Amino acid sequence: MDNCIFCKIVAKQIPATVLYEDDELLAFNDINPAAPVHFLIIPKKHLSSLADAKAEDAVLLGKMLELAPKLAAQQGCAYVEHADGSKSGGFKTVVNTGPNGGQVVYHLHMHVIGGAKL
Ligand code: IMP
Repeated sequence: MDNCIFCKIVAKQIPATVLYEDDELLAFNDINPAAPVHFLIIPKKHLSSLADAKAEDAVLLGKMLELAPKLAAQQGCAYVEHADGSKSGGFKTVVNTGPNGGQVVYHLHMHVIGGAKL
């Protein structure tokens, strides 16, 4: 998409602090972090929003979800269940959809936010 800022990040036309990249996904730090750790996971393929995803995108969406805890752990936000049953760490995942969902950038993205008690 010509006018999509995240497509431009995928095409390396706009700089970003990239945390992960493969053929289908890109993860990079949010330019305006809401917490000490705040990055975005996007499909390289342009989907305007979660509402634009089709059944054929289910595997791609699953890969985004699977990647979130791995990258969160790399960023120091691992969710841990301790032997005594207590829990620590963790992070928040958010996908804003449409105006009422607070979506500003219309290229599907998952926020991963952590590093503080949210
Ligand atoms: P939304 O409200 O879910 O659409 O959030 C869009 C997010 O993209 C916001 O948290 C912005 O700070 C972030 N963002 C916008 N432009 C850039 C950029 O060029 N690099 C990294 N993050 C960006």
